[in-house]
Amino acid sequence: MLSFEQARKVILEHCCPVGIEHVGLLDSVGRVLAHDINAPWDMPLWDNSAMDGFAVRSSDCSQTPCTLKVTGYIPAGDKGDGIIVQPGCAVRIMTGAPTPVGCDAVVPVEETDDGRLEVTLLQPVSKGQHIRVRGEDVSSGDVFVRAGAIVRPPEINILANFGKSLVAVYRRPLVAILSTGDELIELGVTPGPGEIINSNALSLAAAVAETGCIPLMLGIARDNRESHLEKLREGLKADVLITSAGVSAGDRDLVRDILQELGAKQLFWKVGMKPGGPTAFSMFEAKPVFSLPGNPVSTMITFEEFVRPALLKMLGHQQVLRPLFKAVLREELQKKPGKVQIIRLRLENEGGRWFASSAGNQQTAILRTMVDAQALAILPADSGNFAAGDEVDVHFYGNYCDRT
Ligand code: AMP
Ligand code: MG
Repeated sequence: MLSFEQARKVILEHCCPVGIEHVGLLDSVGRVLAHDINAPWDMPLWDNSAMDGFAVRSSDCSQTPCTLKVTGYIPAGDKGDGIIVQPGCAVRIMTGAPTPVGCDAVVPVEETDDGRLEVTLLQPVSKGQHIRVRGEDVSSGDVFVRAGAIVRPPEINILANFGKSLVAVYRRPLVAILSTGDELIELGVTPGPGEIINSNALSLAAAVAETGCIPLMLGIARDNRESHLEKLREGLKADVLITSAGVSAGDRDLVRDILQELGAKQLFWKVGMKPGGPTAFSMFEAKPVFSLPGNPVSTMITFEEFVRPALLKMLGHQQVLRPLFKAVLREELQKKPGKVQIIRLRLENEGGRWFASSAGNQQTAILRTMVDAQALAILPADSGNFAAGDEVDVHFYGNYCDRT
């Protein structure tokens, strides 16, 4: 049996991006840049005014107040061609407009009498003030965003500034989702005795979509060889296949056998963790295949701990694991040494410290505590019971701010 950490290592070693595509700038938000991008020109492209005011020669203003003749006007959008600030003169200028020849300082309108033909400067003027210098933000040729960067509004803005209407990002893997079991019915049908709605497919699809990958719903494989062969074969055409249920030791647990029959190579089955013990991981050529246990809590937790980081890596992300931090337990947690245990928690921040309490019943069949959990604690395999006041490693489950 593999340890939790080894299992994650094996998975991450086998998952890598599935290609690069060029997408329209706005479609790149949330995606990961595949290449470094160099500036095709300086930014700003010309010296320009940082304020609405007057372009002046600082040497004319060594004594203030001083009065200068207003000889021109450069609004934003004007090239300022042919305009020169002569000695003893000033040119009215708007924010963003190119600073004229001769000018080495801009005086904000608030520091003048705002005169029309003549302007009186009221405050001392220093050379270079309120001028944005060509290339001061980014110089032509410099890398201004790096491969691996996630595109957010600031990246969109700077890419747009450099005229990049198309950007190279890692392709979004197509992730097939297959449920297995004779007890399953699809959403929309009211369950009768012995029937369970195929909720795993829906929560897996939601979790896949949340990573940025594209979910592909394959429906249900029934607990017989033919149905498994047909559905698994279909699933192996996608970039990634995730199955739920049918990986325990029951005589109807066919997923692993049929995957092997179809040529998938099993890298592990069974992980020293709770929940999620029966998880299996295989590769079909270069495609990862995750066989997750069927209990919805186990399915979601193994997705969170194994599949999510793998998909993020395939999408080109560098930070694929949620950061761990310490939380102080408000209550004791019972645990036997031997396996990693993943506990659903509620969190509170007091005075900059995190305090954790159990989200409730931790059995794998209890879905409510999954809904209530704000964070998961990863209790190390070798540890025993934890007492109130002990610190544990936790990470947020989803976006903490979304859960009250
Ligand atoms: P199994 O691994 O096939 O023994 O399934 C374990 C448990 O998970 C059983 O209680 C199943 O009914 C439940 N289960 C399996 N698949 C799903 C699914 N797609 N949606 C919700 N529950 C499921
Ligand atoms: Mg089953």
